[in-house]
Amino acid sequence: MSAEPDGPEDRLRRFATIWSRAVFPVTSTSATRPEFEQQLLPLARRLSEALKARIFDADEAKAVGAALVAAHCTDPEALTRTLDCVDAYLVLYCGEGGVQEDLRARAARIEHAMAAGFAKALRERTLAEQEAIAQAALRAQGVVAQALHASEARFRAVFEGAAIGIGIADLDGNVLQVNGALLRMFGLSDQSLRGRRVPEWTHPDDAPQTWRLYDELVRGEREHYHVEKAFYRPDGTALWTNLTVSLLRDADGNPQYQLALMEDTTERRLLNLRLRYEATHDALTGLPNRTFFFERLEKALGAGQDQRFGLCYLDLDGFKTINDSLGHAAGDRLLVEIADRLQSCATAPGEMVARLGGDEFVALTTGPETQREVDELAARIMNALLAPVSIDGRELTVRGSIGIVEGPAGERSPAEVLRSADITMYRAKSAGGNRYELADPEADARAITRHGLTTALPTALDRGEFFIEYQPLVHLGDGSVRGAEALVRWLHPQHGVLGPDRFIPLAEHTGLIVPLGRWVLEQSVRQARAWQERYDGAGPLRINVNLSPCQLSHPGLVQDTVDILERAGVTPDALCLEVTESALIGADDDLLKPLRRLAEMGVDIALDDFGTGYSNLANLRRLPVSILKLDRSFTQSMQQFPADPVDLKIVEGIVSLAHGLNLAVTVEGVETGAQAEQLRILGCDTAQGWYYARPGPPERLHELALVDATG
Ligand code: C2E
Ligand code: MG
Ligand code: MG
Repeated sequence: MSAEPDGPEDRLRRFATIWSRAVFPVTSTSATRPEFEQQLLPLARRLSEALKARIFDADEAKAVGAALVAAHCTDPEALTRTLDCVDAYLVLYCGEGGVQEDLRARAARIEHAMAAGFAKALRERTLAEQEAIAQAALRAQGVVAQALHASEARFRAVFEGAAIGIGIADLDGNVLQVNGALLRMFGLSDQSLRGRRVPEWTHPDDAPQTWRLYDELVRGEREHYHVEKAFYRPDGTALWTNLTVSLLRDADGNPQYQLALMEDTTERRLLNLRLRYEATHDALTGLPNRTFFFERLEKALGAGQDQRFGLCYLDLDGFKTINDSLGHAAGDRLLVEIADRLQSCATAPGEMVARLGGDEFVALTTGPETQREVDELAARIMNALLAPVSIDGRELTVRGSIGIVEGPAGERSPAEVLRSADITMYRAKSAGGNRYELADPEADARAITRHGLTTALPTALDRGEFFIEYQPLVHLGDGSVRGAEALVRWLHPQHGVLGPDRFIPLAEHTGLIVPLGRWVLEQSVRQARAWQERYDGAGPLRINVNLSPCQLSHPGLVQDTVDILERAGVTPDALCLEVTESALIGADDDLLKPLRRLAEMGVDIALDDFGTGYSNLANLRRLPVSILKLDRSFTQSMQQFPADPVDLKIVEGIVSLAHGLNLAVTVEGVETGAQAEQLRILGCDTAQGWYYARPGPPERLHELALVDATG
């Protein structure tokens, strides 16, 4: 076996192999398994292309479903196994490079279309078979009339041996004969259908034309008709059939009997319903999903005059922190609870709630009055989030930001509406969250979309659009500059300077954070070296660099860091890596190992934004950290004078606990001298904030440090 990683072609083959192994046992093909696999390979290729195509083409997936029937995979089990296989393996083997969530949604649509194509092809094939049987029956129609016709034997053989149900009735509707297959469909074992009357078999789901066609046929005005029809079985369950009824005439051409051919479609129908449900609902919360929502929005936007729509686009605030610190299972439960609450906000006709993915939900209202309704809807949603959610005995406060778009039908496409809602939601979030904002077309035009930023990110690194600002870290005891934190910025060609909050989450999502983070580390360490060379006063200046959770789990972290330090000629103890609290809580030993190795080498590890996660203080002992960075919110509460005594007590408690565990304490966001003094009294070691300096170019730090050393 070669250790080379597989190329896309190898993976495609693997998918075709798995597929053929799953389906081959239930096909009636005369091909061998490897031959059958060869037949599936081009189909697999088409699925793979449909998965990645920019625009989804349902016909392509339908054609693959139909091709299965042509390849003798006519057993419903073959379809079930195929769909299971696509569900489990298509994205895995053929989805390289795509966004998982999008690929999964696409795969669901492929499955749905395949099932539809399969069902249609099978129906056509069955119809062709039915036609052949009807022909035989017609050829033998004299038989039924004149008991001893020469072709009776042939007709009998067809009648009894057929896999589809056959029944014969007279023109008054009295059932004369039914075959075994038909009895089995009804779950009967004897001829108990004989003597029943056809017109009794009405069903609430009968299509309106069903009985008109029947009347025309028994009056001799039509030769056959074809409908989809449900029957009641004796146990009350529904039997769904494809029903073809033909008129049989006697030798003189007078109408005499009716011949019904029926195919049981109950299973297939259930499968289709299930597939439709799965393709249009979110597995976790049971809410309608993005696909379903788009269909509804499309309909609402295509509605007639005087119709309007209102849309609330909700994104939970700080969901990631909850997910990271309490684990995904807890995050999932939270989402389910939120979904339930949202559902109860939109119960009126014309209203719906859907989950778009992650912690993003939408609520839609339609009709003539949505201007007023959508505001009420948003208010109901905010209200529904108010009560804390109880998970594992913790009361979690959940807040959300909502972007509202409202307008007349017929002007915009669903994608435009959603983009506007997304931008508006983002505006609500940037304004601090826990609020709703109304879309503003002018702001939309200026807005920076997440999508636009995401696509520009990869080239930005190559083009050198990132730069780093440094913010000094000051010793609270003597006011000396001890080092600086490196904070990355993006000089975007259109939008100007963007802060890390705008693009770090996107870089994390796309994986670009790893090369970007490496670049930041490299630059900052080099900068530290330059400071050391120019300024060798009281001890070396240290450099603090932020690490994302994705970088933590990247296997190259330790080696990259060692290489970067060595190349720059900087000792490990001049480097401090900042990891957010939420990334480390619940981290297992494997995740901590690289950090531990770095700590053993002498690199300091700081727990950033401490106090914002839900960490267990006792857990600190387990982590390889040597510094706590108290979150800005603690400092903020000290802004007013006198500061809240409870907050002071908390900080005092944290500081003494940290010192007891041999951890140094840094505070962030110090904006006034009073705060600095207060924090010094409370025993904090170092501080960072606008009071000392805003983040700025590296030369600034040099000046500050020099002033500090000389003055
Ligand atoms: P952080 O590590 O907690 O960084 C401190 C943030 O507080 C910085 O925001 C800084 O500009 C801001 N700040 C400093 N002093 C004050 C103050 O006195 N008042 C107020 N209101 N704010 C102050 P910034 O630069 O926007 O960075 C935000 C976050 O982005 C950082 O939070 C860090 O988590 C992340 N980040 C920045 N650079 C990088 C990077 O290179 N890699 C990674 N993974 N994350 C980064
Ligand atoms: Mg930081
Ligand atoms: Mg911080």
